[in-house]
Amino acid sequence: MDVKEAIDLLKEKGYKTTKRRQDILVYFEKADGYRTAKDVNEFMESMYEGISFDTVYRNLHLYDELGILETTELNSEKHFRMNCAKHHHHHFICNDCGKTKKINVCPMDELGNTLANYYVEDHKFEIYGLCPLCISA
Ligand SMILES: [Zn+2]
Ligand SMILES: [Zn+2]
Ligand SMILES: [Zn+2]
Repeated sequence: MDVKEAIDLLKEKGYKTTKRRQDILVYFEKADGYRTAKDVNEFMESMYEGISFDTVYRNLHLYDELGILETTELNSEKHFRMNCAKHHHHHFICNDCGKTKKINVCPMDELGNTLANYYVEDHKFEIYGLCPLCISA
């Protein structure tokens, strides 16, 4: 998802696309990886003096609900990134810098008949570690 698609989606769902909301989207588009609510808040505070963490968090929650952002738990803290699930894939996630690498292998393909009589609603598959840049740092 890019900023334009996200804004279109917000409009379509009847949400206001304030400058603040757009700035959060631009932040994630540039970030290209997972970031915490605290990271986003620091960025927003640098532009909007006195903006509350609540406001930032509410927007992150909204974006998560609308599928604009996706979330994961890293170092026992919730992290957000721009949703890139246009085509089904999974991620390697760097524990240090939050950058992700796309993995085009899905373990669901290997299940065969294991869940034959079950209705699968969703699945999650993530690999964690250090990216090459963080290993050599
Ligand atoms: Zn992806
Ligand atoms: Zn890294
Ligand atoms: Zn999958």
